[in-house]
Amino acid sequence: MNKIGIINCYNESRECSSFGCFKAFNDREASFKNYDCNSEIICFAHCNGCSENSVNQVLDRARIMKKKGVDTIHLSTCIKLKCSLYNKIIESLGNEIDIVGYSHDVE
Ligand code: SF4
Repeated sequence: MNKIGIINCYNESRECSSFGCFKAFNDREASFKNYDCNSEIICFAHCNGCSENSVNQVLDRARIMKKKGVDTIHLSTCIKLKCSLYNKIIESLGNEIDIVGYSHDVE
């Protein structure tokens, strides 16, 4: 049983319902395919937008999620596809918590 958090891209979140992330989780597809039926998404948040502090701000958000009980954070597929800081975010968060680099498949 896992407690999952998702962090998505602020820019994309302004026009996104998060349907793809939740559908993938509820159907145990794509990045969520190995979770058991008792696993839960307990946190979902976007980054704070593009700035020179973006990586640290995402790390701060991840730390808050960890304090709330999250054991695994998925970066959203929009971060993977759109964010130039993707690798830096993975590296930074990966030092402190289990990190998965995407959420749903691209259709
Ligand atoms: S820093 Fe990356 S994830 Fe955040 S709004 Fe900008 S492009 Fe999106």
